[in-house]
Amino acid sequence: MFDATTIEIHAEALRRNLAFIRDILGDRTTLCSVVKGNAYGHGLGTFVPLAESFGVERFAVYSASEAYELMRHVSNGPDVYIMGDVPDDALDWAVEKGISFNAFEQVRLDRAIRTAKKLGRKACVHLEVETGMHRTGFTLEDLPAVLDRCTEHADRIEVVGICTHLAGAENQANAFRIDEQKANYKRALELVEASRVPMPKRHVACSAAMLNEPDVLYDMARIGILQYGFWPNKETEVRYRKTHGITEDPLRRLIRWRGRVMSIGGVQRGAFVGYGTSYFAQDDLRLAVVPVGYAFGYARSLSNSGHVLVRGQRAPVRGIVNMNCITIDITGIEGVEIGDEVVLIGEQDGKSVSVASFGELSDQLNYELLTRLPHDIPRVVVDEPLD
Ligand SMILES: *Cc1c(COP(=O)(O)O)cnc(C)c1O
Repeated sequence: MFDATTIEIHAEALRRNLAFIRDILGDRTTLCSVVKGNAYGHGLGTFVPLAESFGVERFAVYSASEAYELMRHVSNGPDVYIMGDVPDDALDWAVEKGISFNAFEQVRLDRAIRTAKKLGRKACVHLEVETGMHRTGFTLEDLPAVLDRCTEHADRIEVVGICTHLAGAENQANAFRIDEQKANYKRALELVEASRVPMPKRHVACSAAMLNEPDVLYDMARIGILQYGFWPNKETEVRYRKTHGITEDPLRRLIRWRGRVMSIGGVQRGAFVGYGTSYFAQDDLRLAVVPVGYAFGYARSLSNSGHVLVRGQRAPVRGIVNMNCITIDITGIEGVEIGDEVVLIGEQDGKSVSVASFGELSDQLNYELLTRLPHDIPRVVVDEPLD
């Protein structure tokens, strides 16, 4: 109610991004839509039904608690997969609901077997292999014994996947690690072949790997950031577009974040704007206050450096980003009025503010900024044609 700010999710943009992804995946590789981090900030409850309406049937999250939230928003009985954390008290629930999860520890596997026995059901697990990321996964040395244990308890454990995660497929500088991981993964597949466990779905690729390492597409790809219309990083975008001779960006951002002008005022040359001395007015300025601050995910690092759009023009942030508001410079922008729409991310009258333009500080900026957008900002689906 009475929200200061709204996040719009563009349906047609998702349709287009999914078409781009499916085109690369082809018929042999299934899309698993990664919706951890509240669907990368887009809102699970908004993104997931929309993705389902475009035929997405598999979703991956990081934790059991995210899976629990996800289950509230799915309607077509899709495949739900937890890639990371399943605490013991969530195991019963996950097994009961037929939700699959990664096994990367002997104890996790044993508990899954015990839970499945207790419930008279099968636990669906993906065996995660440690191939060189050094985060989670069974080592190649442990894998034969793990496979034996799965065979021994074949009535209670269904191995539905064998997977690994690459340690930075978005940077060519990591090629020496990635190549080793690929070789180790192949060895893991040989171990599965040599065991009595039927070959499950093989999956390795995330967005960057899908674009940069097409030989790891296998049976399924776990795609996050691309669906939302963002490249994993600049290097991947440049490399992909150059290799394929693509001049226009094939991706479209789904997100458009908007607020509004709350108050308008001005200062004279020589005054300071906001707290302290962080912004000194070199000229007479017209200023507007927008009631969105760092408590809404508008990063404090954008103090004196971010900009927004109002009346189709760029307005820079002046002074420090406050908890609940920012001050923007509307000097020279004609006709700004209280209540005018302010775009924090996305387009307005042909101009745009990208997440990356927030600073281009690190490769991970898109991911971090998006997932930090608070859950309680309302998300609305916008169904308009793309320009
Ligand atoms: C987050 C994640 C992905 C998706 O990564 P994107 O770069 O967003 O495509 C895939 N696999 C695992 C294990 C992940 O944690």
